[in-house]
Amino acid sequence: MDRLAPLLAALDRVLPSTRPLALHEPAFIGRERDYLLDCLDSGWVSSVGPYVDRFEGELADFTGIGHAIAVVNGTAALHICLLLVGVEPADEVLLPALTFVATANAVRYCGAIPHFVDCERTTLGIDPQALEQYLREHAELRGSACYNRSSGRRIRALLPMHVFGHCCDIEALAELAWRWKLQLVEDAAEALGSRRDGRHCGAIGRVSALSFNGNKTITTGGGGAILTMDVELARRAKHLTTTARVGHRWAFVHDEVGYNYRLPNLNAALGCAQLERLNQLLDDKRALAERYREALAPLSGVRFLTEPPGCRSNYWLNAVLLEGELAGCRDELLERSNAAGLMTRPLWTPMHWLPMYAEFPRMALPVTEAVAACLVNLPSSAWLGQGVPYGTT
Ligand SMILES: *Cc1c(COP(=O)(O)O)cnc(C)c1O
Repeated sequence: MDRLAPLLAALDRVLPSTRPLALHEPAFIGRERDYLLDCLDSGWVSSVGPYVDRFEGELADFTGIGHAIAVVNGTAALHICLLLVGVEPADEVLLPALTFVATANAVRYCGAIPHFVDCERTTLGIDPQALEQYLREHAELRGSACYNRSSGRRIRALLPMHVFGHCCDIEALAELAWRWKLQLVEDAAEALGSRRDGRHCGAIGRVSALSFNGNKTITTGGGGAILTMDVELARRAKHLTTTARVGHRWAFVHDEVGYNYRLPNLNAALGCAQLERLNQLLDDKRALAERYREALAPLSGVRFLTEPPGCRSNYWLNAVLLEGELAGCRDELLERSNAAGLMTRPLWTPMHWLPMYAEFPRMALPVTEAVAACLVNLPSSAWLGQGVPYGTT
């Protein structure tokens, strides 16, 4: 019996008949051309220009998070976020093993030690209960800091990630971070447009990071942003990402080792045009997710990942988990769907299975490992929710 036939048939019913279908394509359906040409005509293409300020202001407005600092990519945003909250060499940072490699890399850029924690099955974000129990066994508070009892190192920060734009249990994690004296930084790279109880992802951490890479909900080509409510941290983020230059009419004065992480005006121009269409993209992505949900609901062995209670997800990437009678079918589904022109992909390799992160501290990761073995991402471009490519209606 062909166990995967009902699932493959359901995908064919949800998706338009065009093949191949990419996993996630950008949509340029607004004033992208106008704004890019404006940069060329005005000569403002590089690291200074009016679109950078405008993009930052519009991001702050859209998210409701007081300040946004645009940077070259999401990884750079994360790097600066960790520096802003005081992560120092040899500190430990708690982060999920189930994430894209950039989250762990940013910790290493600070010279700090990634310490991997498990996720829970509904949001795929860090499991606050498992982490609480783990910290009780392995950590202790000394003065105003948290220490790893076995390594003796300070645990400085907690860095949750909102997987595929589904909000993690951030309130519980914020409460845990407060009790254990950990700085809370959110990797909201995948979560532009996702809200929990009306609050945008990234609003609860002291600082958070967004990405505008080509495969994200909106893109600036490459790009990212640091978000924070704290005006002083925002000022410092701007300083650190612009070579720590001190204002002067002509002299080159820099007061510390800064970074050249500023987003070029060209990329910001693209971002301004993309933001103008963001609500439509979010509506179309929601419509697509709803069609997947309906079509997959009757199938046994298939769990379609939906927004957790209280959350409004951006449905950046749709995902199914193959369980019960379809357990063990992941690779066959990947083979058959890709052969049929549907681009599907497995989950990222969990961090502790990558060679450079194999030796770092971690708790038991049973949920991460189970999810990694059974999850498949489905085609998720926004136009699929509309049924025909943008520009053809
Ligand atoms: C995309 C992404 C990043 C990094 O963003 P870049 O802009 O590609 O550097 C970081 N974390 C997560 C979870 C991501 O999905």
